[in-house]
Amino acid sequence: MTLTTRFAPSPTGYLHVGGARTALYSWLYAKKNGGDFVLRIEDTDLERSTQESVDAIMDGMNWLNLDWNIGPFYQTHRFDRYKEVIAQLIETGHAYRCYCTAEEVEAMREEATAKGENPRYNGMWRDRTDYPEDRPYVIRFKNPLDGSVIINDIVKGDIEIGNSELDDLILARSDGSPTYNLSVVVDDWDMNITHVIRGDDHVNNTPRQINILKALGAPIPQYAHIPMILGDDGKRLSKRHGAVGVMQYRDDGYLPEALLNYLVRLGWSHGDQEIFSRDEMIELFDLTGCNRAPSAFNTDKLIWVNQHYMKSLDPEYVAEHLAWHMDDQGINTENGPALSEIVKVQADRVKTLKEMAQISRYFYEEYSEFDAKAAKKHLRGVARAPLELVQSKLAALTEWNAENIHDAINSTAEELEVGMGKVGMPLRVAATGAGNSPSLDATLALLEQDQIIVRIDKALAYITEREANA
Ligand code: GLU
Repeated sequence: MTLTTRFAPSPTGYLHVGGARTALYSWLYAKKNGGDFVLRIEDTDLERSTQESVDAIMDGMNWLNLDWNIGPFYQTHRFDRYKEVIAQLIETGHAYRCYCTAEEVEAMREEATAKGENPRYNGMWRDRTDYPEDRPYVIRFKNPLDGSVIINDIVKGDIEIGNSELDDLILARSDGSPTYNLSVVVDDWDMNITHVIRGDDHVNNTPRQINILKALGAPIPQYAHIPMILGDDGKRLSKRHGAVGVMQYRDDGYLPEALLNYLVRLGWSHGDQEIFSRDEMIELFDLTGCNRAPSAFNTDKLIWVNQHYMKSLDPEYVAEHLAWHMDDQGINTENGPALSEIVKVQADRVKTLKEMAQISRYFYEEYSEFDAKAAKKHLRGVARAPLELVQSKLAALTEWNAENIHDAINSTAEELEVGMGKVGMPLRVAATGAGNSPSLDATLALLEQDQIIVRIDKALAYITEREANA
């Protein structure tokens, strides 16, 4: 039997980091074992499920390159099958009609609570057949009364739950629609899921699901419940922490490789290795290496991983992602240096691609005004002579490259007997409009020769005006 995992999101919002990590672990485990990876959309909650969310989840998975090879299945397309299985359970004596009203069930729950027990349904209709006519009913599962269920959880170890703690859960609502636990069980069975990898917020459902699977004579998959992701304050990660959809990380300037690498390490380790290529993750990932304790999300570490990938991935590839940010910030990059060149000079200067785009505008657009602080400091009267001399030397270059530019700057400083900074800083402000840039020769080489001459004129005009107003 082929090892098969699944990712089973409910489409009630975007793909958040917790979901993405569950998808990643399921995907990795299938890949590693040459298995299948199923995508199943659990859209039975008709009020909260939206097509928009389905699209957002798939966008997130596509951006992270987590490809499923079976599905997507939609639970709403499978209602007939769920009804068939419910009928089978009734026929074999594993399920029954319950005619209790909401008030009756509420009273049972209160009674149990008063006795210090967990609120539960008391099995009132379990063995009755005196069905009233024309009254709504739900279908309940006849949970075994004795014994216990043992989950051999790959991550958490063995967990034993006494059947006395489980009540007869509802399989079908009074309108005939199947409930969450029933549809998951039928799907895991029909889709030949061998490994259920999911967040440990579902661990309470697992004994119930195992009991239903047993009643159906279906094989029991292996379970791996992954601990939650916490915010840096130790509370469950939520919107309050700025925990947002996966696509927000793209918008914020992270590479998919970085988020994936960050997520694989958030709850799993392999020695003290931090950086994993996709192939390495597939090779080395194992559910037994997953932490039992929850992990805390750490943005600083994500930034560190992102910096690693911006610097080490092929600049041509990083440039494709940078292009998205340039476009997002309205910077037209048709004329100007190749984006891969920008990646080469800026990658070790920024935290994100968004920032890289922000500080690279001057390569593609005329700056409209000088950064006030940089101009105040560097475009002063004393800068006139160095700027004029370096301008004439740069204008005279017959070959515009970093080496020649470097020589022009050097010889200007030598001839005027001033330090390099006295030439370099005004020139930097002239060329970029601001006081920060990659090395000056590399920066200038990426711009056009005549563009630089014009920008130096602009700086000289600024100095003239400043002196006139002094
Ligand atoms: N649809 C459930 C969720 O989004 C997951 C169910 C499962 O993995 O069994 O939380």
